[in-house]
Amino acid sequence: MTLTRSSASANPAAKKADVLKLAAEIIECLKYRVGKEPSVATRHDWLTASIKVVRDRVVDRWIESTRRAYERGDKRVYYLSMEFLIGRLMRDAFSNLGLMDQMREALAIHGVEIDIIAGLEPDAALGNGGLGRLAACFMESMASVDIPAHGYGIRYVHGLFRQEIHDGWQVELPETWLEHGNPWEFERREGAYEVGFGGSVTSVTSKDGRLERHVWKPTERFLAVAFDTPVVGWRGKRVNTLRLWSAMPIDPILLDAFNAGDHIGALRESNKAEALTRVLYPADSHQAGQELRLRQEYFFSAASIQDIVRRHLSQYPDLTSLPEKASIHLNDTHPAIAVAELMRLLMDVHGHDFDVAWDITCRTFAYTNHTLLPEALESWPVPLFERLLPRHMQIIYAINAEVLLKVRSTGDFSDEQVRAISLIHEDGERRVRMGNLAFVAAFSVNGVSALHTDLMKETVFADLHRLYPARINNKTNGITPRRWLMQCNPGLTDLIRDAIGERFLDDIDALKELDAFAGDSAFQERFAGVKRANKEKLVGLVADRMGLRLDPSALFDIQIKRIHEYKRQLLNIIEAVALYDQIRSHPEKDWLPRVKFFGGKAAPSYHNAKLIIKLANDVARVINSDPSVRGLLKVAFVPNYNVSTAEVMIPAADLSEQISTAGLEASGTGNMKFALNGALTIGTLDGANVEIRECVGEENIVIFGLTAQEVAERRAGGYQPRAVIEGSPELRQALEAISSGVFSPDDPDRYKELIGGLYDHDWFMVAADFDAYADAQRHVDELWRDSPRWLAMAIRNTARVGWFSSDRTIRQYAREIWKVPA
Ligand SMILES: *Cc1c(COP(=O)(O)O)cnc(C)c1O
Repeated sequence: MTLTRSSASANPAAKKADVLKLAAEIIECLKYRVGKEPSVATRHDWLTASIKVVRDRVVDRWIESTRRAYERGDKRVYYLSMEFLIGRLMRDAFSNLGLMDQMREALAIHGVEIDIIAGLEPDAALGNGGLGRLAACFMESMASVDIPAHGYGIRYVHGLFRQEIHDGWQVELPETWLEHGNPWEFERREGAYEVGFGGSVTSVTSKDGRLERHVWKPTERFLAVAFDTPVVGWRGKRVNTLRLWSAMPIDPILLDAFNAGDHIGALRESNKAEALTRVLYPADSHQAGQELRLRQEYFFSAASIQDIVRRHLSQYPDLTSLPEKASIHLNDTHPAIAVAELMRLLMDVHGHDFDVAWDITCRTFAYTNHTLLPEALESWPVPLFERLLPRHMQIIYAINAEVLLKVRSTGDFSDEQVRAISLIHEDGERRVRMGNLAFVAAFSVNGVSALHTDLMKETVFADLHRLYPARINNKTNGITPRRWLMQCNPGLTDLIRDAIGERFLDDIDALKELDAFAGDSAFQERFAGVKRANKEKLVGLVADRMGLRLDPSALFDIQIKRIHEYKRQLLNIIEAVALYDQIRSHPEKDWLPRVKFFGGKAAPSYHNAKLIIKLANDVARVINSDPSVRGLLKVAFVPNYNVSTAEVMIPAADLSEQISTAGLEASGTGNMKFALNGALTIGTLDGANVEIRECVGEENIVIFGLTAQEVAERRAGGYQPRAVIEGSPELRQALEAISSGVFSPDDPDRYKELIGGLYDHDWFMVAADFDAYADAQRHVDELWRDSPRWLAMAIRNTARVGWFSSDRTIRQYAREIWKVPA
């Protein structure tokens, strides 16, 4: 395994001693903390004991990291995120601490295979997709680059649903990651805060009639209890805290009700609390719009802000120094209510007047925008907001008055522009705009790729940008190379080390040195060997999970991500159908074997996305069983895409599908993971693909389709998809086949509407981009035919994408936003 090889070989005797010590500690732990003898321990018991033994070693560093920050008075970063898509932690922590080999050997002494128990660890899916995974990569990178940081989120009992495919349809099942307990976390009963909802606001006036203070008396109150997970940075340099809140009742049982015989009613409070943090909303890039969601947002924001204020006041006399000592980062608008909560504490609890409170708040918050999709921009009906959070509503009105006064005083804004800036949407139903709230309160507003940041300035935030022209900045996303190269692809990591030494483990920029090996045929052969082994592993997974047999020498073409119309899985499926047609009508041609893999979850309420999953499976069934295809094309929809599945699929990819409608994918991070693992990208000029092209060079990526600007122009110019379809025989045939029921003989009309939508409006420009995409795919075939050329391109991808490390992203946040050393 990575890293450990060097540190271990430095001192084999010490390593041997450590292995024996760990082996003994595991038995101790089994006995005294799990309560089992080795002879009766289950595999889960071994997993729990292994994690706890390593966790003990983490704790010393954790306490040390915390104390150091306290003693030096370091500024702290607080990262508030509704989602953390963590995945498994065992390999991550063992590897970052340099204990992977030792633990493997220690367990082997007891006859336990580490890879088997590692596979039992639940995949913590407290997030939907990219946004949550970014938060997880950031936590790891903040620890690795030595920034004192706390992540704050929600400890959902049920994370993202488990997906099964029944008869081609997605079926959602509850996910139970806490079933066997969570050996990583520490419950902090003592660190609990009250969070209220509803009720009314009264004002207290002084004797001379001046307004002194507002007092909010909520009618509902809950406890937020902290659960802490240590986050270990690379080489164990620093250990930070991920603090997730769980809701508990203030009165676990209403004894009066119980004694009066109302046994169910007596548990009312308990059930209400439990419901608050029970489930993650399973929608991605879509605003939930439900009361429970707003409650979740406020619950975790309020607990986090109280915790931040408490920590500050334990060290400093008052909150006026908060901006120098803390940056509170809002990962999207989900925690934007934290702005009003900090204002409330500053004014109503700590007695500051509005101006002082607003000044402190505006110098403390920073905000990242993640999407321009209108359906994803959060806003809440004023009546709902007022009922749940009456005091916060008043504060938001006060902030709005302040902002609108500033706008009007410039004299540069029309009424329409003023309306766009207002925190309250006034046409029709009045709504609170969370994006505008986050924007006006934050000293920094960043986008997540260069293109997305430009579009933010031109579209959603155009008027706010004019009012605060220095506020918007770009921080292109990144991924942690520990998880997305070293842990998921040990074969490639070892190969790179053999070629260029191991400096890249600590300084990912050193990957560039691999460029010199791109044309080296011996190196190419070894690179191909690693890819082949990774593909065989994926073939094994697909055989186990789906009973489908695949040929590892075929081109592995992979599109894995949430299922969403803008991500255009449909474009890929239609191309598969067109290719299927071609293979059958031109059997004489020298077709290259290809497997098209899909994976991803659809929001349970997203009809078209679920239908697209069914279509992928219908198309797979027909193509995979048609003997005239002679195995040249296979389609596989891999169920239950999550972080652990990604860790197997990405290292096995030859081709990475990043084909969103230009202008709609804010960044993407899947694109970065694939390139780092030596896959070529076929993609549009969208999100971070633009920057990936700059890094790898345009000769090492396959770009096709409309640009964001061309998409906008086509839309403005009255796009006629029907004419486009009529003009493309391949596309027309494929669409007719799908909509006439060739792939759904049991229900020939199943796809009529879905395909009809392409003829009618085609919001996502599938038809407009189809021919360019199909041509690009045939270009990919040509490249694949020339194996040395392909391998050189793949190696250059790995060599040139070190810039997309989340360490780089986090250093930029640290220097340019948070102003902390990194
Ligand atoms: C990286 C990742 C994503 C984000 O993928 P995109 O292609 O950027 O949308 C989503 N889900 C999981 C499990 C991931 O690992």
